[in-house]
Amino acid sequence: MTSTTRTTPARAHAFSLSSTSEELAALGTWREYPRVQQPAWPDEAERSAVFDRLRTAPPLVFAGEVDVLRSRLADAARGEAFLLQGGDCAETFADSTADRIRAKIRTILQMSAVLTYAASVPVIKMGRMAGQFAKPRSADDETREGVTLPTYRGDAVNGYPFTAEARIPDPQRLWEMYTTSAQTLNLLRAFTSGGFADLREVHSWNQGFVRGPGYDRYEQVAQEIDRAVRFMEAIGADFEALQSVDFYASHEALLLDYEEAMSRIDSRSGEIYGCSGHFLWIGERTRQLDGAHVEFMSRLRNPIGVKLGPSTSVDDALRLIDRLDPDREPGRITFITRMGARQIRDVLPALVEGVRDAGATPAWVTDPMHGNTITSSNGYKTRRFEDILDEVVGFFEVHRALGTVPGGLHMELTGDDVTEVLGGTGHIDEAGLERRYETLVDPRLNHQQSLELAFLVAEMLGR
Ligand code: PEP
Ligand code: MN
Repeated sequence: MTSTTRTTPARAHAFSLSSTSEELAALGTWREYPRVQQPAWPDEAERSAVFDRLRTAPPLVFAGEVDVLRSRLADAARGEAFLLQGGDCAETFADSTADRIRAKIRTILQMSAVLTYAASVPVIKMGRMAGQFAKPRSADDETREGVTLPTYRGDAVNGYPFTAEARIPDPQRLWEMYTTSAQTLNLLRAFTSGGFADLREVHSWNQGFVRGPGYDRYEQVAQEIDRAVRFMEAIGADFEALQSVDFYASHEALLLDYEEAMSRIDSRSGEIYGCSGHFLWIGERTRQLDGAHVEFMSRLRNPIGVKLGPSTSVDDALRLIDRLDPDREPGRITFITRMGARQIRDVLPALVEGVRDAGATPAWVTDPMHGNTITSSNGYKTRRFEDILDEVVGFFEVHRALGTVPGGLHMELTGDDVTEVLGGTGHIDEAGLERRYETLVDPRLNHQQSLELAFLVAEMLGR
């Protein structure tokens, strides 16, 4: 008997849970590098007890799933798939309710149905979810009415209320991040493997959306999708099989001691996987070439994102590739550019061209959120829908002109009816921000603005 060869990787199999092995010890090298944005945990005994618990807890994601995602991101880099990554700027424990998580998943599924139709390639669905609890901050302290306290660094680290007690970093929060991430992933896995993700269901939600006041301009795209769905039904497409979709979890790998404690050795290959999420990214503030984040992430097998702002040089990008993807492995590295609508057409071409001319093939994804943040006259941190759209348009224009591949969208969004971003057909104005501004960090597109953006991108791709 010959043994059967496996063509697709097993999605879940055993991990060695030992953290004393030599391979995992190599993960600790980041401690020798300069590190930024790390909390100072006040009590060493408490910190170390939480980390011991995390080190032996079950992994949240599995090596096989991570390997499948890497190969799908390689497709995106080649133009054979498109990444849709979206979710809160900062998840919170209080808002990790079934209703809110379901609304976010639903929004991403709806957007992805529209984008799949428009781009005619599979859409890789990914949440900024199940782990997005820690935030880099521009200042260590915050002063209100003469009182200065440490800044809020995300629910993983400290509390949002402006009191001395809440703002002290509490390592127990890392355990709560782990359990909340596990609960979120459990819902993600359930909602994307049952009838909820059925294309016909998702399409009927979108039809409901275009019938809303002001959204009828998207009716044509919705009708075309409707015809495509009917055609598939008529030819006997297996909608049961289409009910199950892959949905990946991602977050900024900010807290290196948490990420280290959540790393496991794949018992088959002996390689190290970050098991806190499928896709982990390094933020604009922590991507120093000689810094701890780049050193740590270089040792994981996961596909890795790096955010690149407008000051990024070609040399920076190439040196990041050398550090993080020395073998130039397809799907390993994704550059998430966040240039701002006003700069993208000026700064992105040289960067993409320089990387291409050096023979590297990262996936290029646009984050049209972080380069477009403003403060409204009534004091809200916000963004204009038109700027977000303009950066997306600029992203497609630049890649079209160069003949390179626009690989995906990275969005801050929610499935709820919040009022945090200005504009859109719902005409949220400055006064409107007061109605339902709930985010603790950056403003998110609400459900309608998210769908509107997907339809506008679809119109653009269809031209
Ligand atoms: C974020 O994604 O919320 C973020 C902080 O982005 P950046 O690292 O691009 O500033
Ligand atoms: Mn943000």
